[in-house]
Amino acid sequence: MPEVLVLVDHDGEHVNKATYELLAAARRMGDPAAVVVGTPGTATRLRESLARHGATSVHAAESTDAAEFLVTPAVDALELAVRETAAAAVLVSATTDGREVAGRLAARLDAGLLVDAVDLDSSGVVTQIVFGGSYTVRSHVTHGIPVIAVRPGAFEPEEHPVEAGERKLALPPIAPAASARITARRAAPAGDRPGLTEATVVVSGGRGVAGADGFKVVEELADALGGAVGASRAAVDAGYYPHQYQVGQTGKTVSPQLYIALGISGAIQHLAGMQTSRTILAVNKDPEAPILGLADYGVVGDLFSVAPQLTREMAARRA
Ligand code: FAD
Repeated sequence: MPEVLVLVDHDGEHVNKATYELLAAARRMGDPAAVVVGTPGTATRLRESLARHGATSVHAAESTDAAEFLVTPAVDALELAVRETAAAAVLVSATTDGREVAGRLAARLDAGLLVDAVDLDSSGVVTQIVFGGSYTVRSHVTHGIPVIAVRPGAFEPEEHPVEAGERKLALPPIAPAASARITARRAAPAGDRPGLTEATVVVSGGRGVAGADGFKVVEELADALGGAVGASRAAVDAGYYPHQYQVGQTGKTVSPQLYIALGISGAIQHLAGMQTSRTILAVNKDPEAPILGLADYGVVGDLFSVAPQLTREMAARRA
């Protein structure tokens, strides 16, 4: 079976859940091979958990300054791995960084790029969401090795224990003048909340939340469900919640098991970032709000009445 390269998303100690999803997707096309970019020793630390999720080999692209640069080390590592193996495809997560890596890699390899993949089969046919979520199409790459950016949440992570050998990739020295150096990192999600793109439940607030204080109601419901907090662009632009939590075309793409929209109208740019969620619950006081047309469950009502009731109900069930 040919190798299918998977770029590992990690914090140096733990593998991000989205990578396990990629390994499950990769297994449909061949033998998943993990590419770990990091400081020396990272691949060895992560190897066991990668092997438990089906990675048959781990390519270690390590250097002391790998974590200091934005996407260049990952692009260099994947290019090297492609040139040194007869890989059938490259999979990365369709996060902000992942999209950047995928685009640059495809350009370097003169290869076809498919983004926002939500399904794929053994022959390399990919189902992808295009034009801001207006269409779902099936595509395949006809030129070069397919570079595929997969939406987080589109695949279920699977335990599939195998033996994983480790192989070193000799990363070329990074030319600082030609690479973006990281000068500050975004803050980790508040408290114990899961990351937005990782969470199985996301509770988002919109302009209807009517202020930064109003987001307390959103956070309380998210915490009662063990979920992450998101926000519409209108809420972010109004300063109710930080930009890093924005969901939508110009924010994060999420695909949780449950997405709860509180006071969000359902503009196409917001739907582009959440419409592949497994189940959608919307609370809106306007019965004509477009989001109610998409939602699996719609509640016409005041979010400041409905959300706290849900929070109390969840707390009562836990007790
Ligand atoms: P509104 O459209 O103002 O809706 C607020 C809703 O809250 C209304 O439906 C109202 O009925 C309801 N409401 C009010 N009070 C209550 C209450 N007490 N209880 C219950 N319901 C209540 N938007 C994004 O979200 N993400 C993006 O990434 C994004 N990217 C964009 C990119 C471009 C190029 C452009 C042009 C726009 C983008 N937008 C994006 C903006 C998008 O078009 C909408 O303006 C935005 O999504 C609206 O946010 P909203 O639903 O919170 O606000």
